[in-house]
Amino acid sequence: MTPDPGRLYLSAPTITDGDVRAVVRAMESGWIAPAGPDLTAFESEMACFVGTSHAVGLSSGTAALHLGLKYLGVSAGDFVLVPTVTFAATAFAVTYLGAVPFLVDVDPLTGTMNCDLACEAVRQSRVSGGRVSAAIPVDLYGMPANYGALVPAFRDLEVPILEDAAEGLGASVGDRRVGSFGAAGVLSFNGNKILTTSGGGMLLTNDPKLARAVAKWASQSREPVPWYEHEEIGYNYRLSNLLAALGRSQLQRIDATVSHRRQVREWYREGLAGLEGVAIQGDCPWGQSNAWLSVASFDTDRYPRAPELIRLELESHNIESRPVWKPLHQQPVFRELPSLLDGVADDMFSRGLCLPSGPSMDLASVERVCDIIRSVLAT
Ligand SMILES: *Cc1c(COP(=O)(O)O)cnc(C)c1O
Repeated sequence: MTPDPGRLYLSAPTITDGDVRAVVRAMESGWIAPAGPDLTAFESEMACFVGTSHAVGLSSGTAALHLGLKYLGVSAGDFVLVPTVTFAATAFAVTYLGAVPFLVDVDPLTGTMNCDLACEAVRQSRVSGGRVSAAIPVDLYGMPANYGALVPAFRDLEVPILEDAAEGLGASVGDRRVGSFGAAGVLSFNGNKILTTSGGGMLLTNDPKLARAVAKWASQSREPVPWYEHEEIGYNYRLSNLLAALGRSQLQRIDATVSHRRQVREWYREGLAGLEGVAIQGDCPWGQSNAWLSVASFDTDRYPRAPELIRLELESHNIESRPVWKPLHQQPVFRELPSLLDGVADDMFSRGLCLPSGPSMDLASVERVCDIIRSVLAT
């Protein structure tokens, strides 16, 4: 069910009867606030799914980024490497610690952090006396970043990785799931993500000290004594038990959710096959995407302004689509940041369009979208 049943949304959540029952059961159990058995179980089930030993449920992916960076020692004046193509929250979290996002361009095939440019950014920062205290590769639209290259490169440079897997739940590299590659990984359960608790996030790690510190900070840094005792600054960042119940229920069908998203992407590929100058982003050589959003890319030499014209035409048919993330270096709020760019992000932004990809998309809806794309390109 969605607010407008006639509209095709970019990525609307599906709530099943089972989801509703799970939340009601949690409410009836009396565990309303804030922690409780569903939160503990959601954490261990998610850790098991992703393949880490620890998970901490938090109020958002942004909160998970913030506390993950804090644990890694990111502090005022440091640089943190961020791909310029991502949701702004990746970089916002860096600024919460007084640190400076250093924007690097992305690999043209996947839109994920360009490893060579990122390493070059570390060297340049060090030459100018700067400290790079972390790197945040992003699994863009569910596409795993190139961890086979990034992990050893940053190990050599002694820069820890915080993995922004907010869009990547269920994606993998080889037999390892996204979220397990850095010192810690971040998930988001926001409204349109692949699993949603309406709002929420999680930090994943194999480091028990990291998990303990983040869980404590997220609970107002309360010390384990009967009165409220605080030795450190705290945050109110914990995920609620009720929302965890919703997350647990959705986690049970995550494999089906990811298969469906991948099927939708395949339908788009088939529906647009033979149309020159249009490509649907596929899997990458090193891993499997969860196809959170299907991304179309247009040859704008051949079809000038195609993404925007198609977006408007889809909108006139009550179909939601969205330009790819506007690169952070083009954002007014980030104009002053240091960057290392080679034009790939700008190119992606001018050519790309995210197509409706959610659970309610069936073959007929995908064909409707493809027909509209064909008709716009024909005129
Ligand atoms: C959604 C998202 C976030 C933020 O997660 P919230 O749960 O909305 O705070 C961070 N990074 C990326 C790449 C995202 O897509």
